[in-house]
Amino acid sequence: MKAVVYHGPADFRFESVADAALRDPSDVVVRVSRTAICGSDLHLWHGGVPVLEQGFAVGHEFVGVVEDAGAAVRTVRRGDRVLVSCTTGCGTCAPCRDGLHSACPVTTAGGAQNVFGFSSALPGGQAEAVRVPFADTNCFRIPASVDDEHALFLTDILPTGYLGAELAEVGAGDVVVVLGCGPVGAFAQRASQLRGAARVLAVDPDTGRLARAAARGCETIDPAQDDVAARVLAATGGRGADAVIEAVGRPELLQQALLLARAGGRIAVIGLCAAPVEIQPILLFLKNLTLRSGLVNPQRFVPRLLAAIEAGRLDPTEIITHRLALADAARGYELFARHEDGALKVVLAP
Ligand SMILES: [Zn+2]
Ligand SMILES: [Zn+2]
Repeated sequence: MKAVVYHGPADFRFESVADAALRDPSDVVVRVSRTAICGSDLHLWHGGVPVLEQGFAVGHEFVGVVEDAGAAVRTVRRGDRVLVSCTTGCGTCAPCRDGLHSACPVTTAGGAQNVFGFSSALPGGQAEAVRVPFADTNCFRIPASVDDEHALFLTDILPTGYLGAELAEVGAGDVVVVLGCGPVGAFAQRASQLRGAARVLAVDPDTGRLARAAARGCETIDPAQDDVAARVLAATGGRGADAVIEAVGRPELLQQALLLARAGGRIAVIGLCAAPVEIQPILLFLKNLTLRSGLVNPQRFVPRLLAAIEAGRLDPTEIITHRLALADAARGYELFARHEDGALKVVLAP
């Protein structure tokens, strides 16, 4: 079979790899129908993730059809259309039972990476087919009324955006600031609206992305043109925002989030930030702020978000800007990395 294979930063090749096959009785093999390029794949592309090997298939956002199922698999079977969680858990350990599958000691045993597409131990979904471990926990059947593209982002970024709104305890009537209008920021904005926010203020220096945020009902702030703090204070009668969601992962935005929140405000950090961060903890102290962060566990969110999609309250396909063949993935990475041609989300079809 063919896959998009990591050979080093900015060197991803569409080439032949060993066929995906069952290894354990709880595995399935999924024939991929749609896959997408994520911001965390871009970290690999830019060389921002320490990788000790090469030759593995990348990608962790994919949907498809179960082609083969191990003898122990109960919840899906051959021929089912499924979406697959980007983080894999065993489903039975204590963290998995708490909904923290990403911290599963079984799938991370020996320091293994339990997100698809970052090592040869768990090859990724930018491929014609993928082995999925613990299928009963990590695969979800897609209802007939939901097509593959509408289900695709349930694998990672839609639950990630929703997690941001949940961690920031966004509720009815809130004024919410979302720092970042990339794919995750867009879904944090949508999730805030779903949870009843009165106003969502979207911040991003990319004017194309701001225009898309405005189209989804957000008030937009361009930090290259506007004083962000002044705009947030003006929008809140001088109080500050009830909730701030950092959806980029830039160190300086954490400190900004502390400044934008009102006394008693809640801050969620869902952007991936590996760099050291300078913040003034006294702001947390003096303003009685709550600061939370977390890696997504889509397993916890898929049922309710799938229901919202089925009911027509959410259309995740709104963020798709480019559809390419899997063979043209490298071009997709370039488009996404440079925000070229308005690229916000690139979907690939094998
Ligand atoms: Zn992702
Ligand atoms: Zn587990």
